[in-house]
Amino acid sequence: MTLRLGVPNKGRLNERTIELLTKAGIDLGEGPGRRLYVKAQNQDLEVMFVRAQDIPEFIAKGALDFGITGLDQLAESGYELTNLLNLEFGYCHLAVAVPEESPVRSIDDIPEGSRIATSFPNVTRRFFESKGKDVSVIVVSGAAEIMPYIGVSDYIVDLVSTGSTLKMNRLVEIGTLVDSQAAVLTLKAEGEKGVQMQGIVESIRSVIVAEDKKYIMANVPRDKLDVIGDIVPGLDGPTILDIAGNSAFVAVHAVVDSVKVYQVIADLKSIGAKGILTTQIERLVD
Ligand code: AMP
Repeated sequence: MTLRLGVPNKGRLNERTIELLTKAGIDLGEGPGRRLYVKAQNQDLEVMFVRAQDIPEFIAKGALDFGITGLDQLAESGYELTNLLNLEFGYCHLAVAVPEESPVRSIDDIPEGSRIATSFPNVTRRFFESKGKDVSVIVVSGAAEIMPYIGVSDYIVDLVSTGSTLKMNRLVEIGTLVDSQAAVLTLKAEGEKGVQMQGIVESIRSVIVAEDKKYIMANVPRDKLDVIGDIVPGLDGPTILDIAGNSAFVAVHAVVDSVKVYQVIADLKSIGAKGILTTQIERLVD
């Protein structure tokens, strides 16, 4: 049964999404380029390149079985979809921001009837309704940051990641509406398609998990075996192997967190380990 996957055709989420799919073994052929549709070479899967903001709707309407987009787009769409996997990139949040010189410093301070410019009108309306505030939402398709300065709005609701764009535009963040990152979304993961989708999701998950890990190998003095588990706990303890013709040393293999590699190498050296080497892990399935 052919699955249809929606992927952002451009913008911030596009490149990393393609990288993850490729690493997960989904062969998109000669690079998607400007194509709008790619049949995966090695699976029963069609990848559709569409706008990030259209993906939730296409899933909800059944045009796509699943798709990758930001949780902000899901919130804005208003559809109830299932999040199969957070992808740990495209982190940002939808925030209310006010001009630096404004006395407003919290959502409660926002006066009734204020004008809020945003390209996320649905989330913004729902948010202020839930706070019992009657505001007027002004829909813009971009550059919301400039709106208070040209008198189009009093405040804005916009996506923030580092906060540097707000700062550059002399705006201050006063509240968050949605925390977002890229995710794999579907309507329902049921039946044969559900099983196929879960398989793909598990491949992607194994890539994300592996990216934070390294595989380390070292020859360790046999008489230091009692401390090796403390230095490299591994997934379920390190693998210990005999070395042919060398009874004084054993080979130790283990998975370690990438951020700890430096310390682990120093600790291994301190107990007399030799031939220490580390390699990348392509996938890690628990
Ligand atoms: P695009 O407009 O196509 O570049 O994609 C925008 C999507 O990228 C958003 O819907 C978010 O999910 C994500 N994103 C991550 N960080 C940011 C940011 N600082 N500004 C805008 N979008 C961001």
